[in-house]
Amino acid sequence: MKYISTRAGMQPLSFSDILLEGLAPDGGLAVPEHYPQVKADTLEAWRDLSYAELAAQILGLFVDDLDKDTLRQLTAQAYQSSVFDSPDIVPLKPLQQDFALLGLSQGPTLAFKDMAMQFLGQIFEYVLDQRQTTLNIVGATSGDTGSAAEYALRGKRGVSVFMLSPYGRMSAFQRAQMYSLQDENIHNLSVKGVFDDCQDIVKALSGDLAFKSAKHLGAVNSINWARIAAQVVYYFWGWLRASNGPGQKVSFAVPSGNFGNILSGHIARQMGLPIHRLVLATNENNVLEEFFRTGIYRPRPATHTYATSSPSMDISRASNFERFVFDLLGRDGQQVRHLWQQLAEQGSFDLSAYLPEFEARYGFVAGVSTHADRLETIRRVQAEYGVLIDPHTADGVKVAEQYREPGIPMLVLETALPAKFSETIEEATGAPAPIPAHLAQLADLPQKVVVMDADLLQVRAYIEQHAPV
Ligand SMILES: *Cc1c(COP(=O)(O)O)cnc(C)c1O
Repeated sequence: MKYISTRAGMQPLSFSDILLEGLAPDGGLAVPEHYPQVKADTLEAWRDLSYAELAAQILGLFVDDLDKDTLRQLTAQAYQSSVFDSPDIVPLKPLQQDFALLGLSQGPTLAFKDMAMQFLGQIFEYVLDQRQTTLNIVGATSGDTGSAAEYALRGKRGVSVFMLSPYGRMSAFQRAQMYSLQDENIHNLSVKGVFDDCQDIVKALSGDLAFKSAKHLGAVNSINWARIAAQVVYYFWGWLRASNGPGQKVSFAVPSGNFGNILSGHIARQMGLPIHRLVLATNENNVLEEFFRTGIYRPRPATHTYATSSPSMDISRASNFERFVFDLLGRDGQQVRHLWQQLAEQGSFDLSAYLPEFEARYGFVAGVSTHADRLETIRRVQAEYGVLIDPHTADGVKVAEQYREPGIPMLVLETALPAKFSETIEEATGAPAPIPAHLAQLADLPQKVVVMDADLLQVRAYIEQHAPV
């Protein structure tokens, strides 16, 4: 399996080569040359595998340059019950007949980002070891991604993490989660500014090519292909748990922001997994819902991106969307390049000619959930099913309910646990969310964080001083 760019300007590369890279040299995103196909009998043979074993099978279809035993070891280390708070790793949590949550948030940071990051941590360490090199991950976070990356990379050989977060803008829980890590290779930089300031500094640092190569800077952002590939696994896992035989259709509903999670569902479907519908749920930032309704893609500027009570979906420029458009256009990289050029010049593009294919050919449908919907859904799901869900998962449940069909199981991806977003839970139910027992002491742990101005030179100097290479 080799990887090409969505904009047709990259020589085919192997998995390990694209693992440590961000954008392709032509500005596009790496995608596999073709999607591996999984036949119905293979799928049936996978029913009894553990999550880690299933991950080794599926990732083995995408990784061309690691042997099977190595991959098995890496997935066994990534997906073990000492790391995930469930013997199944990803439990199915039934709400009703043919309606369940797919529990993706049992990892160390209580959000689905752990699913991919835990694998990334293992494979980074292995590949850096093999290549006798090191990597300094520099990132910006408003919460979930940064903490998932830190928990996955803490203590790993050859990798250091410099994570910028906006000073005073994260919840107490999120701060405690990140800043209580005492590992030497984890550096929390709390920047006196907003998330966009952090992001700008990271962009400026990786745009400084001399500094980037001297300091071996890398990223773990949501366009990373290994993250997308690792996420494909839980669609197969969910199907295997919810279906009762070959060919049985299952639908998935996905709270979406950067289009990373649901893109993995699209890939699973392209691989032959019998997925009926892929239900895309947005919050008030509904650029993607608008696209699937009208065929017009019109990202909004940061100033028109609302701060909502499902903050991890407050995104208007979905960085993984280009990978889906590549497939939609028959994998024509020239045409993708042309469209993104038009996007830069005119701020939008129009694919309404493809509107009939969105659902008929790709299974995509979409819907919006608002703050009021979120609160109502959290309350109702607790009252009707006795299950407390987080605000993002609530957006998924709300939109999923519009698309349920008799006889077709609907799985809603649980993208975070309520403990992470307790304020909204309290607003909905009148009581704060329970904190999992193993995290009860988190708030009392000492914190390691450096506060600095939103100043490129200060951040750069800190990395210069603390990067091991
Ligand atoms: C990141 C995140 C999302 C959005 O996922 P995308 O892959 O960006 O579409 C949804 N919910 C939670 C809790 C998240 O952390």
